[in-house]
Amino acid sequence: MSSRSSTPIRSLEPKPPISFLGAGGAHDVHLGNSAALLTWEGETFLIDCGFTVYPRLVQKNLVEKPQAILITHLHDDHIGSLSALLYHRHFLSKLPPTPLLAGTPELRQKLHTYLAYLMGEPLERFATILAPEAYRPYLKSFDTSGLHMPHMPSAAYLFTSPSLNLLYSGDIGKPVPALPSLATLPMLWVFHDVAFHRTPTHAHYTELIPFYEQGYNLWGYHCDPAQAPPDNPIPLVHSTFLLG
Ligand SMILES: [Zn+2]
Repeated sequence: MSSRSSTPIRSLEPKPPISFLGAGGAHDVHLGNSAALLTWEGETFLIDCGFTVYPRLVQKNLVEKPQAILITHLHDDHIGSLSALLYHRHFLSKLPPTPLLAGTPELRQKLHTYLAYLMGEPLERFATILAPEAYRPYLKSFDTSGLHMPHMPSAAYLFTSPSLNLLYSGDIGKPVPALPSLATLPMLWVFHDVAFHRTPTHAHYTELIPFYEQGYNLWGYHCDPAQAPPDNPIPLVHSTFLLG
């Protein structure tokens, strides 16, 4: 960590291949639900699929673009249009079942129950639910269950490679606990939820500032930039990573 402080690696270039379909909080509908398309080793992942996401994918002709979908947790602003997307990909696009990646056994089990209730069995017509690590060895999950909402399963995800690493926090009430242990990863980009008011469900910007000051290449999402106080130094994805 000390070498990080003396030689910050924070840099704007090269930007990782991530485009946010929206970057708002749960009720910032005008900013879109927080979700992103990320291309890694030639494969495109959709991260989360809230209720504004499927319409956005249709509008941008991107319904067929992701090869797999990562889910951080089961709130509607993260899965609210997932069944519509899976139906579209199955019935209209005639795609094979979509790999759905979820980072804990409980998250996978609840995701299966939820989708089977909405879409009918066998769910395997539409989707195959897997651990991210079982899908691609460069993916790593961090169990953040209970840190966003009590008793709610959730996960953060790390995309790894020798030259670029990317952490996506999902929603979490504090900085991702694994964050300090990732300090030595080369070219680490961190996309973290951020809140500008005190809440147990999202990371307050003042708790993220120490990481930012240590040189972490940290970007905030799941917020309204209009609410950012003047002393917030953390850059927000809205200015740089939104899909045009
Ligand atoms: Zn949430």
